[in-house]
Amino acid sequence: MDVCIRGAGIVGRTLALLLARERLRVGLVAPSTQAPAASRPDVRAYALNLASKNLLESLRCWPSAAAATPVLHMKVSEDLGGGVNFDAAQLGTEALTWIVDVPVLESQLADAVRFQPQIELLETPAPAALTVVCEGKASSTRAEFGVDFEVTPYAQHAIAARIACEKPHEQVARQWFAQGEVLAFLPLGGAAGNSVAIVWSVSPEHAAKLLQLSPEDFCLELQATSQHCLGQLMLASERAVWPLQKAQARQWTGRTAAGAWALAGDAAHNVHPLAGQGLNMGLADVSELARLIRERDYWRSVGDDKLLRRYERSRKAGMLSMATATDGLQWMFSQHGGAWATLRNWGMNRVDRSGRLKQWMARQAMDF
Ligand SMILES: Cc1cc2nc3c(=O)[nH]c(=O)nc-3n(C[C@H](O)[C@H](O)[C@H](O)COP(=O)(O)OP(=O)(O)OC[C@H]3O[C@@H](n4cnc5c(N)ncnc54)[C@H](O)[C@@H]3O)c2cc1C
Repeated sequence: MDVCIRGAGIVGRTLALLLARERLRVGLVAPSTQAPAASRPDVRAYALNLASKNLLESLRCWPSAAAATPVLHMKVSEDLGGGVNFDAAQLGTEALTWIVDVPVLESQLADAVRFQPQIELLETPAPAALTVVCEGKASSTRAEFGVDFEVTPYAQHAIAARIACEKPHEQVARQWFAQGEVLAFLPLGGAAGNSVAIVWSVSPEHAAKLLQLSPEDFCLELQATSQHCLGQLMLASERAVWPLQKAQARQWTGRTAAGAWALAGDAAHNVHPLAGQGLNMGLADVSELARLIRERDYWRSVGDDKLLRRYERSRKAGMLSMATATDGLQWMFSQHGGAWATLRNWGMNRVDRSGRLKQWMARQAMDF
């Protein structure tokens, strides 16, 4: 076996398909006890950027139009009425981002893996020249390899759910920042859809209260916070909750007596979901690792130290700039008090009016 991938989430499966395409023999550790069917379906939808779309399309795993809604406008608002609007046509782009139904993407990747003869599904890890750890934020292999994972908890939990709306979303993604909390509405169901996936990042106490509300009362709270922009709302799934943290592994690659290893995806880094970049970063990790493996000198092994050092250098740099920007936004919006709110309000309106700065900000977010 050339490469053993531990963890069959979206990042692990994508890497398995990329390496199988290079005719490498891949083992993918996917214990049957952790199969998605064994747990409840994910209610989330992810905002995926153009690089992620291109990558998944190249593997024939990009969902159909109904499950990957292009976002044409983005509206960001805050407490005092300040706001920034982004428009795909004005930026000369097909879409600002795509909102992808998570269970649909997961099942397309699982099917592609099943039909790829170069990939062997494993119940337990097997020896290989390179082990790639894609086990997510609570990775046990990362701990087994003795890697420090520096975790800074945000004092926030994210509630996610699917919501049916009275009015169509018109391909607009919306975000409201209020009193340090963030509510996002991500359009679902294709261009003519009238449902959204929500991510509501709130204090743990507020999360506990919101989860105890009846579906009707929860939707009344949502309607008020979203300023009734999509009319009457109805809960269309269960409510799921995630504690939020910023984290980074100190070391991303290394070697044990059994061979070389690398971390990718949430096993290497976690960011706040407000910028919708966690999976985009994980897919950029595996895209880069697969590229370095493909372009290596013919005499270098897939676990070559120089190759892995390059991977670590390049992806740590990409991760750091994204994590710093996301963390800065989270901090700025979590500051209470009149002066902060006034400054934010002024800043957002100013950005909205400044064509160049706005274009630059949108490009940063779109190209990561
Ligand atoms: C509320 C919320 C909203 C988000 N929205 C976005 C968004 O809009 N856009 C975006 O880009 N990102 C978003 N993210 C981030 C995104 O969810 C993660 O970055 C992404 O899921 C990471 O994928 P992964 O494959 O690395 O890890 P995971 O999805 O955690 O997958 C890890 C896999 O490994 C398996 N596993 C764990 N331990 C072992 C083991 N010991 N052996 C074998 N298998 C194991 C698990 O069962 C799982 O299948 C969001 C996150 C949250 C919490």
